[in-house]
Amino acid sequence: MKLICKACNLAISESLSELKDLNLVNKNDGQDYVPKGSYLIQEETDYERIKGSIIINIKDLINSKHHSDRSRLNGCCGLDGCDGMNRVCLHNHEIGTEYSDCWRVHFVALNPELVKLI
Ligand SMILES: [Zn+2]
Repeated sequence: MKLICKACNLAISESLSELKDLNLVNKNDGQDYVPKGSYLIQEETDYERIKGSIIINIKDLINSKHHSDRSRLNGCCGLDGCDGMNRVCLHNHEIGTEYSDCWRVHFVALNPELVKLI
């Protein structure tokens, strides 16, 4: 599987497989939430992400850059992800939110309305 931007069909992730062994999920701040090469589907909507969001390791995100709106890019030493989507594809389509600040678990959550797993 891989992720593509729905707007332009650009691949935005490396090859991924669903994480079946939830013992591999790491909830420690400042560390990767899921191992490289895997994805998880968010089961319920919470205050930050909608149900169905696709959660991947930051290192698996490709063909992507930071949002041009700098107000989305707040953080201490990374991106805190608190100000809306902060990641776009190379064609400037919003795709999701990177969480990479020191006080957070690190991952990218892709919006299921904007990207597709193929
Ligand atoms: Zn795109």
